[in-house]
Amino acid sequence: MSEVRTREVRTRFAPSPTGYLHVGGARTALFSWAYARRHGGKFILRIEDTDLERSTEASVQAIFEGMRWLGLDWDEGPFFQMQRLPRYREVIDRLIAAGHAYPCWATREELDALREQQRARGEKPRYDGRWRPERAKAAGLVPPADRKPVIRFRNPDEGAVTFEDLIKGPITVANAELDDLVLLRADGVPTYNFGVVVDDLDMAITHVIRGDDHVNNTPRQVNIFRALGADLPQFAHVPMILGPDGERLSKRHGAVSVTQYRDDGYLPEALTNYLARLGWSHGNEEVFTRDQFVEWFDLGHVARSPAQFDPEKLGWLNQQYMKGASDVRLATLVHAELLRRGLDSGTGPDLARVVALLKDRAATVPQLAEAATLFYAEPKPTPAMLAEFLTEQSLPGLRSLLARLEALSAWEKQPIAAAMKEALASSGLKMPQLAMPLRVIVAGQPQTPAIDAVLELLGRESVLARLGRRLSGD
Ligand code: GLU
Repeated sequence: MSEVRTREVRTRFAPSPTGYLHVGGARTALFSWAYARRHGGKFILRIEDTDLERSTEASVQAIFEGMRWLGLDWDEGPFFQMQRLPRYREVIDRLIAAGHAYPCWATREELDALREQQRARGEKPRYDGRWRPERAKAAGLVPPADRKPVIRFRNPDEGAVTFEDLIKGPITVANAELDDLVLLRADGVPTYNFGVVVDDLDMAITHVIRGDDHVNNTPRQVNIFRALGADLPQFAHVPMILGPDGERLSKRHGAVSVTQYRDDGYLPEALTNYLARLGWSHGNEEVFTRDQFVEWFDLGHVARSPAQFDPEKLGWLNQQYMKGASDVRLATLVHAELLRRGLDSGTGPDLARVVALLKDRAATVPQLAEAATLFYAEPKPTPAMLAEFLTEQSLPGLRSLLARLEALSAWEKQPIAAAMKEALASSGLKMPQLAMPLRVIVAGQPQTPAIDAVLELLGRESVLARLGRRLSGD
């Protein structure tokens, strides 16, 4: 009889709070999150705040904010490494007792000198293990009483470390390539490689999904797991994201922070969909829901080569999601954007109706707000535009239209359209010859959605006032 053992899938996202939530980090988080959700497991958030110089509370908040906005909800945490120092000490003591770790009192000057000598000999700089207990003893080294040591890992000297990467395949590194890395600094703060192993173990992480900038750290971590007598988690190193020029994605390429995309008017589901497709695919599917993504996501279809960030594709996706978003939701976002521009949408037509009229044409919320502006502030067509469109030919037609609009009893699309037809018939103009100047006057530009719909929404008072002002020769 075979026994099937199922272990709950537990993934984590472990950002260092040294800046905003980068889209690369967000993509890693999204993959970890989706993997946990796909398998009915748990997704854990851990803040790796051991870099005391660079970690900030503002950055912790920015990470939370970005993740919440993207809907990456975590089941456990946030855990903070700096709140776990006693635990790292405990594990260190265990490793020392078992002979897998040892204190090292080498000074910076000594290590610098060692490195220089190795360089001069054409060797790769590495710690030489001089404080390994048996060597220190043989060399007669005496621990100085006035300084605290760092604790180093006693890396195996022989053999090789092998692990199976779920994305990259098997990876093997000779132990001779690895030196005795520092696990705990003299101030009791763990280094990345040590903290990460203790935490991944304590948090029972089954799948370590992270950026492949860490793939060189993994053999060291594997050795530490082994020294602790622990089973290895599975590892999946996700290839990095490149900018359109093929260089690693950075600020030079434009917005790289998740909250910047929020502030620039992208919808979170559009960014999520975009990030999901960066280095992962499901057939030719480009637009899919979050639920579909969770259902389809697997590590086997994560690409081995780096993905290229394409702002145009993100814009296109955002436009797809804007079309599908409810008018009321978009109205809330546009309202905030208009307020930032000093406009109060409460002073004009119902914003949800305005949004419904305009949303097919906008790729982002600010573009939509820009298009909505004409409903809440008198547009300012340029003199050149006025000269181009308000001609001897069009003016009689516009005046005839104004008279007809003034006489309308019901301010609705159909009677407005009828008034336009009558004005065309009486002036002998073609539709564009009347509609374009009309748009320039009421909207400040010759392109708008259907003009009768714009006039209806803008309302009798504003339309008549705008036309009246221009046609009276002001
Ligand atoms: N704190 C590391 C980083 O932000 C986490 C790496 C990992 O997931 O192990 O790069």
